[in-house]
Amino acid sequence: MSVGLRELRDGLGGLGLGRAPVVVHASLSAFGEVDGGAETVVAALLQTFATVLAPAFTYKTMVTPLTGPAENGITYGSGGDRNRMAEFFDPQMPVDRLIGVIPETLRRQPQARRSTHPILSFTGVGAESLLAAQTLAEPLAPLQALAEADGWALLLGVDHTVNTSIHCAEKLAGRRTFVRWALTPQGVVECPGFPGCSAGFQAVAPLVEGETRQTVIGRARVQALPLRPLFETVIACIRQNPLALLCQQEDCERCNQIRGRLTRP
Ligand SMILES: [Zn+2]
Repeated sequence: MSVGLRELRDGLGGLGLGRAPVVVHASLSAFGEVDGGAETVVAALLQTFATVLAPAFTYKTMVTPLTGPAENGITYGSGGDRNRMAEFFDPQMPVDRLIGVIPETLRRQPQARRSTHPILSFTGVGAESLLAAQTLAEPLAPLQALAEADGWALLLGVDHTVNTSIHCAEKLAGRRTFVRWALTPQGVVECPGFPGCSAGFQAVAPLVEGETRQTVIGRARVQALPLRPLFETVIACIRQNPLALLCQQEDCERCNQIRGRLTRP
């Protein structure tokens, strides 16, 4: 059984968010077969919500220099082939495949706009004021603006490990961020405020269960999280345990950097 526009609209509308602004993280394949593919999912989103924001990140622009600031959760000089294959940022470049085809399809809508951060741009429809909040120093400001506008994070067939809004709350909790570098036509641009690792974020799920609205569309589990309480929960969680939400991978440079900072006398 494939999923159509009507089921998508019914499912999204049934979350009861009204016309609240949303940021979307999505896996198209999680739905099973969708009639018309990503275009249909995006059409359903735009028919349900007046403001739809999505990450439009472009990791292919990233380069690793030979040297840089200390304690930056990175191995300098390790860029190798990735540096050689890095692409110059261009506002028309596609959203990274890791982010998925649904944000890329949103970006290609005629009425969509995109911010200009060379790694962490966002795209959206009806989201101009959110996009305008982004600066090189504050790459996740659109998500903070979305929270202040009583927005929601929509997880369409994905879990909290791709919930970028949690990075915004981490920063508000005082957790450190990193510096990364992007190749642009103007040269290599230093990008401060780069978030840590999100592999441990699913640990937040039980803490926000009471606030989470859920449904199933096709084969996809769909969750909606109000950003204000999500931020409050993440901030309280990190203040109580400064190691909260870090991942357990032994070789994770960014999580280990945060641990190192916190365990050093
Ligand atoms: Zn990690």
